[in-house]
Amino acid sequence: MDCIFCKIAAREIDSELLYEDEAVVAFRDINPVAPTHVLIVPREHIERISDIQPRHAEMVGRLHLVAGEIAARTGLSDYRLVFNCGPEAGQAVYHIHLHLIGGRKMTWPPG
Ligand code: 5GP
Ligand code: ZN
Repeated sequence: MDCIFCKIAAREIDSELLYEDEAVVAFRDINPVAPTHVLIVPREHIERISDIQPRHAEMVGRLHLVAGEIAARTGLSDYRLVFNCGPEAGQAVYHIHLHLIGGRKMTWPPG
């Protein structure tokens, strides 16, 4: 499958992983929008967060636990966690990923 995040998770593309376990990997966004911008990604290829099923509940919870762990390790107390779902929300890569964004003041509502 021609999916960039599947390839990073499978180590077919060289990328520094900040975290990995049997279900989840995390790595820095190639085009960061803030001083800290990390993507937390399941190894399983799921196109949109709207596609998740009950069997994914543990994995989706784990994405958030990993985000919190990386934030704590980075010394971030304030941050934003985001899933973009679909083109109108700005999703560009169709393999679900949780954005961990922090290190600068953010505005609300998002653009
Ligand atoms: P989305 O817009 O789909 O929510 O977010 C996709 C994110 O993936 C973007 O922030 C983009 O910069 C990042 N990205 C796209 N391709 C790559 C890549 O090859 N490596 C890394 N590390 N990040 C990528
Ligand atoms: Zn994929």
